[in-house]
Amino acid sequence: MDKKEIDNLISGYRAAANRLVLLDYDGTLVAFEQIPSNARLPQYLNDLLEGLIMNPGTKVFVITGRASADIEVMLDHLQISIIAEHGSMIREGGIWKNLTSGFCPWKKSVIPIMKKAVADCPGSFLEEKKCSLAWHYRNADLRSGIVHSRNLIRNLGETVLPKGFKVLDGNKVVEVIPGDTGKGKAVMMLRGQDKYDFILAIGDDKTDEEMFMCLSDDASSYTIKVGPGKSHAKFGFESIDEVISLLKQLSG
Ligand SMILES: [Mg+2]
Repeated sequence: MDKKEIDNLISGYRAAANRLVLLDYDGTLVAFEQIPSNARLPQYLNDLLEGLIMNPGTKVFVITGRASADIEVMLDHLQISIIAEHGSMIREGGIWKNLTSGFCPWKKSVIPIMKKAVADCPGSFLEEKKCSLAWHYRNADLRSGIVHSRNLIRNLGETVLPKGFKVLDGNKVVEVIPGDTGKGKAVMMLRGQDKYDFILAIGDDKTDEEMFMCLSDDASSYTIKVGPGKSHAKFGFESIDEVISLLKQLSG
């Protein structure tokens, strides 16, 4: 994103009366860590987000794949709205709501497949969230992780895809979520609830593409992909530092 595009974004933000800001967490606000609980917001970023939330007419969401309890700890005392588990859980005004039925009998058939991947790939682990299951390989040998993740996606494809589930191929994580959830669905829901004249969405991973796609038709929205790779986002940032620099300008 060049200087002129950033200036346009900032003037769009300033001119708007009702703004929606959607920020992914890992890889967008904080760098990836071997141990996810180490990926904490530095104090200055906490203050920046606080400043952004305080701007009148500005709704700020952290939108993440992390489990609700997990992201809540990360964001600590920040009075920020949260969408967790790729759109399954939402926290507004400090209250969590489950946007799915919360009834997950399908987990029974997926757990053994993921447990086999854990056994086959040392260092990998299974995470059970309220509405999804994730197999992480960030701590496994890279080559082994990649090979086993491809096997897992193939095995899951045969089991859950025909039943309408989504298999998310994320950054060192393979995740199964109900087919009627996702970051894109969550953003559509927010857009249906209010009329925004400025929307900013920033993310780094494949799961963020849904949110970029569902905003592609909206001329007053800015979508930004962090890092290399093809994307449906309108703009790109090279690093987290550029995200922070933009938030600094918006919150000031
Ligand atoms: Mg991310």
